[in-house]
Amino acid sequence: MSVTALPKIELHMHLEGAAPPAFIRGMAREKNIDISRIFDEKGHYRYADFWEFLKVYEAACTTLQNPMDFYRLTMAVLEESAASGVVYTETFLSPDFCGGRDLGAWREYLHAIEEAAAEAEAKMGITLRGIVTCIRHFGPQKARETVHCAAQTKGDFIRGFGIAGDEKVGNLEDFIWSFDCAREAGLGLEVHACEWNGPQEVRDALTHLKADRIGHGVRAIADLALVDELAEKGVVLEVCPGSNVALGIYPSFRDHPIAEFDRRGVKVTISTDDPPFFHTTMALEYEMLNRAFDWDEGQFSKLNRTALDAAFCDADTKAKIAKLLGAA
Ligand SMILES: [Zn+2]
Repeated sequence: MSVTALPKIELHMHLEGAAPPAFIRGMAREKNIDISRIFDEKGHYRYADFWEFLKVYEAACTTLQNPMDFYRLTMAVLEESAASGVVYTETFLSPDFCGGRDLGAWREYLHAIEEAAAEAEAKMGITLRGIVTCIRHFGPQKARETVHCAAQTKGDFIRGFGIAGDEKVGNLEDFIWSFDCAREAGLGLEVHACEWNGPQEVRDALTHLKADRIGHGVRAIADLALVDELAEKGVVLEVCPGSNVALGIYPSFRDHPIAEFDRRGVKVTISTDDPPFFHTTMALEYEMLNRAFDWDEGQFSKLNRTALDAAFCDADTKAKIAKLLGAA
């Protein structure tokens, strides 16, 4: 079997960031919003660097204005994921973009997203779970409202709390209150760290926010004592190689440290982050990793087991997904 055909688990994907460009253009047309500047002549998202990417991302989000839009977005995204062989995926959801962090509005958006997820599961056999995510550059005060939304809607579907956005703004320490609150609510904890800042960011994520999983974490490779610590503690990295290459952190897959982390015993997993922005899919990630490092079916199966162990869903869901992996 080709590695691209394997059943896949993805732990790190932003729902709005996974919106196909044609879908966002359709939304913009319906609402008479002119966001033509965010697309290039081929119709792809246009941005020069990570910081412009964040602005384009937020501009695309302005076309998503009500729960029905998020129902349609969720269906469009899960169709793409299922076509790539993904059987289980966790997505970051931001109450900032779903009703401006108002709990009542958030519940309505969430209801629509869950409805789409249930429909996609029945039709395409893909299971979705949500991680409520605050946006770092929106500041710690807004994160408190976000974690309130997360804690109040924790259930079978909402399983975690995370932080994404611009790592160059503020300190992770500023978010201790929100992460304490999320932990007390029983949510799994995910922290985007060490994509742009140095190894200290991962230490902060573990020490101050007590993260269960690190989003990216790739720059930790510059500190081998930290790499050993990650391996010893069994900290899981949600690695998004195609995203890192597209944003210029590494020139190619071959130069990416994912294989080095793996060799040194760190638990790594594979995700797409914001697939259409980075011209990637889960199938393409597998293909590129296979080419760069000669990773075979056994290696990808190992990584999928790691991802399933680290997933925030309940035990029954894990048992169901394990069967799908085992049948491969
Ligand atoms: Zn991310």
